[in-house]
Amino acid sequence: MDHTNDVQHIARVVLGPADPGYDEEVAGFQTGFRHRPELVVGAADADEVRRAVTYAAGRGLTVSVQATGHGLPGASDGGLLITTRRMDGVRIDPAARTARIDAGVRWAQVVAAASPHGLAPLSGSSPGVGAVSYVLGGGIGLLGRRFGYASDHVRALEVVTADGELRRLTARGPDGDLWRALLGGGNAVRLGVVTAMEIDLFPVAALYGGYVRYGEESVETAVRAYLEWTRGVPDEMTSGLAVMSYPDAPGLPEHLRGRYVATVSVAYSGDGAAGARLVAPLRAAAPVLEDTLRELSYAENATVYAEPDQPHAYYGDNAMVRGLDAETAVRVVKATGPGQPVWSVTQISHLGGALGRSGGGGLDSVPHRSAAYAVRMLSVLTPDTGVARVRALHREVFALLGEQVLGRAGNFSFGGGDEVEGLHDTTLSAALSQTKRRYDPTAVF
Ligand SMILES: Cc1cc2nc3c(=O)[nH]c(=O)nc-3n(C[C@H](O)[C@H](O)[C@H](O)COP(=O)(O)OP(=O)(O)OC[C@H]3O[C@@H](n4cnc5c(N)ncnc54)[C@H](O)[C@@H]3O)c2cc1C
Repeated sequence: MDHTNDVQHIARVVLGPADPGYDEEVAGFQTGFRHRPELVVGAADADEVRRAVTYAAGRGLTVSVQATGHGLPGASDGGLLITTRRMDGVRIDPAARTARIDAGVRWAQVVAAASPHGLAPLSGSSPGVGAVSYVLGGGIGLLGRRFGYASDHVRALEVVTADGELRRLTARGPDGDLWRALLGGGNAVRLGVVTAMEIDLFPVAALYGGYVRYGEESVETAVRAYLEWTRGVPDEMTSGLAVMSYPDAPGLPEHLRGRYVATVSVAYSGDGAAGARLVAPLRAAAPVLEDTLRELSYAENATVYAEPDQPHAYYGDNAMVRGLDAETAVRVVKATGPGQPVWSVTQISHLGGALGRSGGGGLDSVPHRSAAYAVRMLSVLTPDTGVARVRALHREVFALLGEQVLGRAGNFSFGGGDEVEGLHDTTLSAALSQTKRRYDPTAVF
């Protein structure tokens, strides 16, 4: 389709594949998959989003959205891509304890704006992740067990639907079904482009947190000790275990090169001395390779999980489980340990606490709240490890969890990770499909 004469009214930045700047505009954190749209619109505000959606709907082009590209579920080929990185406004209301965030804002920006007021958002392990999409997918953050899913704490949101209308939604306002479907089901169901959100902030200025890391000889002990430890911690303690082999690559710290390690990351939002007492069993569980646990300001939260911040190619999926015994956890970890042809990180995130209770009065689509843990796998894609091989490994590993699997979390599938079969709750799926048919009958999104 030739768009040359039609598109200049949409936005200042509208590019086709032959235009300079196209590759940079569609690029994101995920380098293994890239959108290849017929047109990319670099939206600066909600009006440009509306015009882009109206243009696409009128010409039968499907619309995709990208903020940072961390969560690319599967790349689009053709159609129109709206990038939101220019929509980067954050406004804090310290008295109301809220933040208004635009579509392209990353958590780092919200944290930086909120922390001078002694406030924190329900952000996650990586400050580079886009806040809006994270919230739409539920959002399991560093304060999750204390305050619940990020999507439980949205005051209002603004969304451009397939008819090109900008709707302002609240929990008890009109379009309640859309509100409900967006919060928790939002980035997977694709109901529109959320242009801004008002979210709650919490009076958390400091954490006791960081990580404790164990070497290869203690990985199994660490897995067992971690699971045992999670059974007794209060809701102010949110944590996760990651097991991985570091490549023997230059640039990595010497003590990690080529090592197979287990790392327990914790974020405790109570008193520091109590935090230190609570983590004592982790420190005593096995010889410790590295220990960064300390009191830190919430603004330093990126150091808790210390995740890579450079774009790379990866495939990820997850299973939410009602329970996890130590034998099964050890089998899962062993299946992804050294000697495997696919380089993977296996993570076990402790859920429960407020994550198990609906904070939004039941008006949300967060799946599998009763899950006690999320088991996640993330594999690095290289030219030698194609997606098919990685998917096969993931399928094998998730099968080890058997009957304990409830389904998947909205946020932890990367690169078309749709291989954990039959796990969506059927009642929820039916409700979401009905809402999709109502607001996007011709599947513009
Ligand atoms: C390193 C890393 C760490 C993470 N840590 C956590 C964590 O601790 N907790 C957690 O819950 N999740 C976590 N995630 C998952 C993350 O929250 C999701 O992948 C999220 O979708 C990423 O949003 P994004 O804007 O950064 O990515 P994008 O790839 O830009 O967006 C992901 C998808 O969301 C949809 N979308 C984006 N913007 C909009 C919009 N404005 N309106 C409607 N739909 C939109 C699109 O379908 C898009 O494909 C992590 C992911 C990574 C890669």
